[in-house]
Amino acid sequence: MTDYVFPPPPRSAVPVTDGAGLFPVRRVFCVGRNYAAHAREMGGNPEREPPFFFTKPADALVIAGADTPYPPATANLHHEIELVVALGAGGAGIAPERALDLVFGYAVGLDLTRRDLQDEAKAARRPWDMAKGFDASAPIGDIAPAARIGHPRAGRIALRVNGAARQEGDLADQIWPVPEIIAHLSRLVRLAAGDLIFTGTLEGVGPLRRGDALHGEIAGVGALRTRIV
Ligand code: MN
Repeated sequence: MTDYVFPPPPRSAVPVTDGAGLFPVRRVFCVGRNYAAHAREMGGNPEREPPFFFTKPADALVIAGADTPYPPATANLHHEIELVVALGAGGAGIAPERALDLVFGYAVGLDLTRRDLQDEAKAARRPWDMAKGFDASAPIGDIAPAARIGHPRAGRIALRVNGAARQEGDLADQIWPVPEIIAHLSRLVRLAAGDLIFTGTLEGVGPLRRGDALHGEIAGVGALRTRIV
């Protein structure tokens, strides 16, 4: 007997720019504290911490400009605008010099965070899962193939909420650039095609309310739009 006992859940898939198809998602990894000024605003020391990782479920993605429901169990939902790396190949123990060979493309993403639950988890030394991996916690824009845009190492990354600037910086300020992130992560887990990596946010994180219109953009990569409902 090999049939499923009920139909398997649908697979998350992110559109590739210019109608080039759908990117099937396997896992969603996220990097914590990858810009010095944001690490400081969160109370960390950017000089001494190697990259650390957490995850979100693949079905937490909010795709193609869909609305994002305000989640339950929080009164302090925060935005974190991030560059997302989409892997088209995988492996373990990847050297930084080889890491970009794994990259299919890049997108703009939001690592939505129930900051009140995260603060409680930090204080109690508990896991971050319910602060980070809740339903609809990962809006993402379309994926731009590296074959078309190359591998951005610098460029403006910005988030506006209802037209007002909230976060603005430059990818060049990442503590750990993409090749180093892939190398570090591949020493912890075997990566595979379909994996997404949210590469950390910059300073200026803050609260969202129902009705907010979000517009994120990264120069040379693309944009993301969603509305909190
Ligand atoms: Mn983040």
